[in-house]
Amino acid sequence: MKETNTYLGSDIKKLGFGLMRLPTDTGKPDGKIDIAKSCEMVDAFMAAGFTYFDTAYGYSGGESERAIKAALVDRYPRESFKLATKLPAWHGASSEAEARAMFDTSFERTGAGYFDFYLLHNVGSVRTAAFDKFHMWEYIAELKAAGKIRHAGFSFHDTAELLDEVLTKHPEMEFVQLQINYADWNSGGVQSRRCWETAWKKHGKPVVIMEPVKGGMLSDPHETVKAALDAANPNVSYSSWAIRFAASLDGIITVLSGMTTIEQMNDNISTMKDFVPLSETERGAVDNAIAALNALPGIPCTGCRYCVEGGGCPMNVVIPNIFDAFNRKLIFGDEMAAKFGYAWETNFGAKASACVACGHCETVCPQKIPIIERLKEAAAAFE
Ligand code: SF4
Ligand code: SF4
Repeated sequence: MKETNTYLGSDIKKLGFGLMRLPTDTGKPDGKIDIAKSCEMVDAFMAAGFTYFDTAYGYSGGESERAIKAALVDRYPRESFKLATKLPAWHGASSEAEARAMFDTSFERTGAGYFDFYLLHNVGSVRTAAFDKFHMWEYIAELKAAGKIRHAGFSFHDTAELLDEVLTKHPEMEFVQLQINYADWNSGGVQSRRCWETAWKKHGKPVVIMEPVKGGMLSDPHETVKAALDAANPNVSYSSWAIRFAASLDGIITVLSGMTTIEQMNDNISTMKDFVPLSETERGAVDNAIAALNALPGIPCTGCRYCVEGGGCPMNVVIPNIFDAFNRKLIFGDEMAAKFGYAWETNFGAKASACVACGHCETVCPQKIPIIERLKEAAAAFE
């Protein structure tokens, strides 16, 4: 591993409060954020010694940033917590001035005075071009020099190769936020392991982990996965396995959990208050859980992207991304997550139904996946 003294997380406990799913008055994501319940959760979190909070310009249409002002910033001394937020230049900004103004909006909504961690939100795919075009890399350095942010980084969803490219081009970035969980550890679409190796082992950049429970899917996984974990310890929650797996990695600033209820928070607090990394036996149980997941009837796409890159699909069908979303239904039985994933991923390229059956992708796919047929199934399931 590259020598580094930029381990920004040495004094931060390994559980962070993700603020994208705060409790609402209706119990549904589009309801009004319940400030009283949010205060109760913030209090429980802080009382247990945890200090890292993660919001974003876009969470709940900006209401997440307002809620954390009311529940945290206005109620606790500023130096007692770390606040992170993110700037999505690719979404809703049509000029450099509009993209820069997103910081001012976050600054005003949170009333935080400064951000401990500030991120370019969701770098990767076609989104990276917006950060380049609007000079957001330079802007974030400017904000740091002005003392408005303490640490500059970015969240990322794409391949390890592209992450390597971005970090090589922007060595000034101090940390990366990555989707890491045991289900995606060796997956081709998300590439958790390869992205973590690229950020931490190759570039020495510490990592904030997001989606350790894969949007909640690992809190209630398939029966065969449960059996693999229960064999080692049947008395702990399935979420706790997922969070401890993530927190046991090297180079981790913190592991974010997007908590909605005080019960979830209490479970996470009891897992992480006196965090113990996975033992060898426990890590073996997680490996068995990964094997059980891999044996489920998913599409064996490794995300190599041969089918889409370098003169790949003429219709720009986002094949590996579609298969990743489809696998949420096939492997986890999670229709909602699969539909949401499909709608999101196909924002950045063509849908499955755009396939004209030219056959190119099938000639290059090393996994010999009947891509045309599986795309038809995906179109029928999601369009
Ligand atoms: S068969 Fe369909 S998905 Fe494959 S390369 Fe041709 S158009 Fe794209
Ligand atoms: S070539 Fe095959 S394995 Fe590789 S990304 Fe495309 S579908 Fe997946």
